Amino acid sequence: MTAKLPKLPLTPFIDGVFEQPGLASEPLLDPATGETLARVHSANREQALKAIAAARRAFDDGDWPKMPVFERGQVLRRIADRILARAEDLALLESVNGGKPITGARREVAGTARVFNYYAGAMDKFFGDTIPVSEQLLNFTLHEPLGVVAQITPWNFPLLAAAWKLAPALAAGCACLLKPSPLTPLSTLLLAEIIAECGVPRGIVNILPGGAEIGQLLATHEAIDGISFTGSTAVGTEVMRAAAGTVKKVALELGGKNACIVFDDADIAGAAKSAVSGAFGNAGQSCSARSRFLVQKSAIAPFTEALLGELKMLRLGSPLDPTTTLGPLISAAHWQRVERSVRGAEQQGARLLTGGHRPDDLPDGNFFLPTVFGGVTADMPLYNEEVFGPVCSITSFETENDAVRKANDSVYGLNGSVWSRDIGRALRVAKAVRTGMIAVNGLPSASSTSLFAPFGGTKRSGIGRELGMDALAFYTEVKTVTIDLS
Ligand code: NAD
Repeated sequence: MTAKLPKLPLTPFIDGVFEQPGLASEPLLDPATGETLARVHSANREQALKAIAAARRAFDDGDWPKMPVFERGQVLRRIADRILARAEDLALLESVNGGKPITGARREVAGTARVFNYYAGAMDKFFGDTIPVSEQLLNFTLHEPLGVVAQITPWNFPLLAAAWKLAPALAAGCACLLKPSPLTPLSTLLLAEIIAECGVPRGIVNILPGGAEIGQLLATHEAIDGISFTGSTAVGTEVMRAAAGTVKKVALELGGKNACIVFDDADIAGAAKSAVSGAFGNAGQSCSARSRFLVQKSAIAPFTEALLGELKMLRLGSPLDPTTTLGPLISAAHWQRVERSVRGAEQQGARLLTGGHRPDDLPDGNFFLPTVFGGVTADMPLYNEEVFGPVCSITSFETENDAVRKANDSVYGLNGSVWSRDIGRALRVAKAVRTGMIAVNGLPSASSTSLFAPFGGTKRSGIGRELGMDALAFYTEVKTVTIDLS
């Protein structure tokens, strides 16, 4: 049975109002049951062009970019308060639309409010420099809003991803055109309603549910100054190419194949326990998923035993059951992709240690058992390709250098973990691994995804950083002012 949804708008939000529903709408399927959840009216090309013009007007002629930063901050604080007041509705939408266990969805809503609160007080601490160029000249820099920005989000953390983009952009004084994933627009549409209630001027936030066509329009349009994209590396590459024609500022948060390096002197039980959230959190549909375990040869047996023991504690089931810890995959098509990767890994000679198929007691929905492969080598696709499901691999290493070489043997460079009681070694490895983030001896959710620290990747995991004060750098331009004192 699919849950009853709160009342919410299901049309594009443009220039301060929700559009009238058109004739066309697309069904959204509940990933846990396959039933239709709602029908959403995506933005068409004309509506997207209207939104771009409204954002341009609101930025060029409106008050928002010129408003004292403290006043903009007060609006962001109101948004955070309203998010908390509607927390249960937002968590319900996030849970049923994305198949997320409700307890995790509630944490994500709380995190969303924290992000708006953080940026409410950030902009008055993000100022320029006075530069001693010469006795005759006074030189200083201003941080000015970037302008009209396009923001494209994925389906795996729809509400948080929207907050990571909207909150710093609004704090900086930009006008936003946000396109959520067509698979998970619901929480973003409710967020639009919340934002509209909090005093953000018309045209400053526009929400355009839709797919690749709207994404491409945003990436190519000359009236847009910057684009912040979160999604797959394949689509991110297309976005960057499309944005090149108008030399837009581009930020990309892309895929990952993150290594968790476990030395034989590590807290093996702790490392195995961390895998429950690190590799299987959000059913592995996380860009930061530690899906590649690199384990020192002498620790392979105890680590594998501990990991398989931990996985027995995971409870698959309805996302709305508060005891569920592993929900379904986002769609039937994605389930098939994950299954293909698993069958491929078996054919390549990887040893299936657990899982690998649908749970017998959950015949409906897109459920997939937590899956672990042993004996995985660098030449196997499973070692290199982001599966984006509850699937991880174990590979052995011999020495510290071997561990670093194997961790860096990836086109991606997003996140990672290292476990060792030798803190010197752990830190040497943390420095040598080429990723944007790395966690040492800790659960990734606590130690590497702090909402106030920069988040982003190296190599094909992306360009730029979200969160923290670093996000403000993307949403602003630096202007150098020189005054001749003579
Ligand atoms: P996706 O790349 O398929 O889609 C992402 C967004 O891009 C969606 O809104 C989609 O509608 C839009 N889009 C699709 N084609 C487009 C095009 N041609 N031009 C412009 N926009 C287009 O990704 P997904 O399946 O929604 O999400 C999963 C991927 O996102 C994974 O690879 C994951 O690693 C990555 N991700 C990365 C981060 C990070 O911060 N690094 C966070 C979450 C997800």
